Amino acid sequence: MEVVGVEAPGAPGPGEVLVAPEAVGLCGSDFHYFLGDIGTIDDPSTLYPRIQGHEAAGTILDVGPDCPPGLAAGTRVAVWPVASCGGCYACRVGRGNACVNISLVGVHRDGALQEQLLVPAAQVFAVGDQDPALAALIEPVSIAVRAVVRGRVADGEHVVVLGAGPIGQALALAAIDRGASVLLVDTLASRLARASGIGADVLAAAEDADLGAAVRDWAGEDGPEVVIEATGVPALVQGAVELVAHAGRVVVVGLSADHAPVRVGDLPLKEIDVLGVSCCGADEFAAAVELVGRRRDAAAGLVTHEFGLEQAPDAIAYAIAHPAEVMKAVVRLDGA
Ligand SMILES: [Zn+2]
Ligand SMILES: [Zn+2]
Repeated sequence: MEVVGVEAPGAPGPGEVLVAPEAVGLCGSDFHYFLGDIGTIDDPSTLYPRIQGHEAAGTILDVGPDCPPGLAAGTRVAVWPVASCGGCYACRVGRGNACVNISLVGVHRDGALQEQLLVPAAQVFAVGDQDPALAALIEPVSIAVRAVVRGRVADGEHVVVLGAGPIGQALALAAIDRGASVLLVDTLASRLARASGIGADVLAAAEDADLGAAVRDWAGEDGPEVVIEATGVPALVQGAVELVAHAGRVVVVGLSADHAPVRVGDLPLKEIDVLGVSCCGADEFAAAVELVGRRRDAAAGLVTHEFGLEQAPDAIAYAIAHPAEVMKAVVRLDGA
């Protein structure tokens, strides 16, 4: 990864806006991208070179013709990175976030780690006066909103979240917001310590621990109604299947290219739903804008490191090397 000069994208066309990115969050999928291992993409070589950055907040510089009202130069926005084809089965049933031809800003096309980004107006959401680093959290929080919708997390339920990284923390925030109790599980105590502002209970798990007893102590004998896998550790999919209550829901958010054995009989025996979560739909992104705005104190605690654009390559390398220390690293392009 290197910082280079590129041509400016020029004026926005019909239905497009030109955004000056101000803050861009770095996430686990950016680390995969950086390392050349993109879990779910069969031939990653087709994706390089690429300007990364899919967790972006910025200010509109220019609005093209035929854009919806409410967007003007100077409006601070968060970027919803999802564009879909409209024609495949997923799109036809209203789930363009799982489109077979999905195109994500910062993954399939150039992202926000640059000074100007041209995007369709439908992919920017006004965020009011939210700080850019906070607004850059909206995208990861939108994944969490999608996950609790998919998992039908309801008031009074017990939700176990495996993995207390930024997505795990966002999952806790989103599940608590729906009235659930959340147990956040991780091997890194430093990550669990950040959950206090969110209101989650925490469990420090040894690498080879049997979580079952501890989780039943917390959730009751039936076990938790929902278990969300947010580590990407393949074996934990089976762990989630074991932990969840009969008739419960397992939600898989973590990415991995590896296979993991699942005891097949557990699925019919327990009659559980196993639900994958991709990125989110427009309504869920709007809900994430609202949630981050309302819980800004809890969310702001997740941003632990800020870097300038020139330092972006070092920022990614540093975040990969220091998982216990770095919760969310944000690249600031606004000089703040
Ligand atoms: Zn991300
Ligand atoms: Zn599609």
